[in-house]
Amino acid sequence: MEVKPKLFASDVEEPGGGKLAETPRDRRITKLPTPETGRVKSGWTIEDSEELYRIKGWGDPYFSINAAGHVTVSPQGDRGGSLDLYELVRALKQRNLGLPLLIRFSDILEDRIQRLNAAFAKAIARYNYQGVYRGVFPVKCNQQRHLIEDLVRFGKPYQFGLEAGSKPELMIALALLDTPGSLLICNGYKDQEYIETAILAKQLGKTVIVVLEQVEEVDLVIAESRKLGIMPIVGVRAKLSAKGIGRWGGSAGDRAKFGLTVPEIIQAVEKLRAADMLSCLQLLHYHIGSQIPAINVIKDAIREASQIFVELAQLGANMRYLDVGGGLGVDYDGSKTNFYASKNYNMQNYAYDVVAEVKEACEERDVPMPTLISESGRAIASHQSVLVFDVLGTSDVIAEEPEPTTDDDHLILRNLYETWQSISADTYQEAYHDATQFKDEAISLFGFGYLSLVERSRAERLYWACCAKILEIARQQDYVPDDLEDLEKIMASIYYVNLSVFQSAPDSWAIDQLFPIMPIHRLDEEPTCRGTLADLTCDSDGKIDQFIDLRDVKSVLELHPLVRGQGSDTNSEPQTTEPYYLGLFLGGAYQEIMGNLHNLFGDTNTVHIQLTPKGYQIEHVVKGDTMTEVLGYVQYDSEDLIESIRRQSEAALQERRITLQEAQLLLQNYERSLSRYTYLTS
Ligand SMILES: *Cc1c(COP(=O)(O)O)cnc(C)c1O
Repeated sequence: MEVKPKLFASDVEEPGGGKLAETPRDRRITKLPTPETGRVKSGWTIEDSEELYRIKGWGDPYFSINAAGHVTVSPQGDRGGSLDLYELVRALKQRNLGLPLLIRFSDILEDRIQRLNAAFAKAIARYNYQGVYRGVFPVKCNQQRHLIEDLVRFGKPYQFGLEAGSKPELMIALALLDTPGSLLICNGYKDQEYIETAILAKQLGKTVIVVLEQVEEVDLVIAESRKLGIMPIVGVRAKLSAKGIGRWGGSAGDRAKFGLTVPEIIQAVEKLRAADMLSCLQLLHYHIGSQIPAINVIKDAIREASQIFVELAQLGANMRYLDVGGGLGVDYDGSKTNFYASKNYNMQNYAYDVVAEVKEACEERDVPMPTLISESGRAIASHQSVLVFDVLGTSDVIAEEPEPTTDDDHLILRNLYETWQSISADTYQEAYHDATQFKDEAISLFGFGYLSLVERSRAERLYWACCAKILEIARQQDYVPDDLEDLEKIMASIYYVNLSVFQSAPDSWAIDQLFPIMPIHRLDEEPTCRGTLADLTCDSDGKIDQFIDLRDVKSVLELHPLVRGQGSDTNSEPQTTEPYYLGLFLGGAYQEIMGNLHNLFGDTNTVHIQLTPKGYQIEHVVKGDTMTEVLGYVQYDSEDLIESIRRQSEAALQERRITLQEAQLLLQNYERSLSRYTYLTS
């Protein structure tokens, strides 16, 4: 098992009981990415790419690299069958499905469900647990209809159910979940209408469980059930004192937004008893947060919850279900550590711990073992989709060997040149400070009019040349002084990508979540450039400049230089480059619905791919938003907009400011655009 070599004191217990993953800020990069600069292209292998992008760490068993240097997808995991992602994208482009493109692999979803159920089945057998596992999928993780339909279908053999956290999600779950014996867990804030609907749905033969999340809901449930004359199945959500950690740790603890404290649970028990409804109380639920990176935190929570569970049984409630919520993590950086982007346990460890802890608590107090429920969303939905997007161009720092200076040149230029000449393994740190100081001086000299624009340009180029030379040396060193950390960033290229971070990877922007990102082809070629990604939005936050790394977080990603396109060397044609495709992986949970319309970039095209014995088939195509659609969200009517352009053209024609031909072309373009994709098309 791989372990992050030095970044955690993973054996140090926090006073609160949980281990705390350090934030990236605490763990700044102390080693720059290892040098590949010296390698020749022919020496680069796909194994080098595997290691560099850590695809085995986060992608196994679904993603790997083939001999052609393309990413391949094995949607059925270990059960064989795979397809070439790059070829798939090319085939989809030929069918007019432009990038950015979200590709969903239904088989992966099925495999995840099977894995989770197999893990619990194995744990139940191993511990001879006297109960079953009935998982539910939290709809909030990904509400797209095709995905929920697949989920219900694939979950049938396991009586997999759904969890709703709001009224609209309840509408989805009630209509789509038709698996006999599966559970429908009702969480979230509830009003009278929500509760009434949930209780009535019991009459359809569904196992609907109303989880009390707020004290007020107890009276509402009692009143509604009296009114309808139906005895519901009721659960309580406990606020555990065991705390989650990491990004989503705030979901637990006494001050958490949801759940009942222990005194409130006791109050609810008494109210239900007084209403003669204590037998309705059958479930205990908790949720300590998503993406729990450390197994001991999970254990602490399950231990505390098991105790509450057996106590409730002894108070006379008819306890039959224990719902451990979400939190089952995804290893985004593939490091298998308790870093926030990783997890130091696997699905099987998780199932073992849940089963073992509940069994022990029940046996000790002679309470029947409950049906176990987990609300694992991220662990089920993350892997099934890949976002593929193209690079539009790059902005590179020019770092070529500088022209020697002469005595006629300005002193500051001569100083910079001398600095460049002097750089060696012994002096590189000092040289970096000198170069930076001279460059700053050059800029202020320019500000006072002592340096011409051409001279300033030379000064900046000399500075970049110094940085490039220093960086080359720094990359050879095991440890680089802190003050050189920014060097990689200064010298990084900017890759302009055809996507909106706000729409397609909102958590990367909002909470610095890391997703594995890598080229999906050219992986037999050394990626000699280092870059950050800049998206299409006119927002400086619309970028990705944190990438997964074994040791820590990288500020630049290794990428390939763009290759000039063929046959475009006529002078009038803009220079084209060959397509360069990147993939963002493990983004199947939460990103789609949280994505927003910043700058009016809409939903991307989505396709559902299923493996067949002969290859694959496209199950569904969900076209991305058109401009008319996104404009509609902000209350613009396309017809009105066209009408306005028509009127303005007419006026311009009258005043002979535009020709008839120009006016027609403009109107044509305008109308056509409205029915088009909001992203750049190539
Ligand atoms: C969000 C949420 C989940 C899903 O958590 P994951 O970590 O994605 O598995 C489960 N239960 C509740 C109550 C939630 O709010």
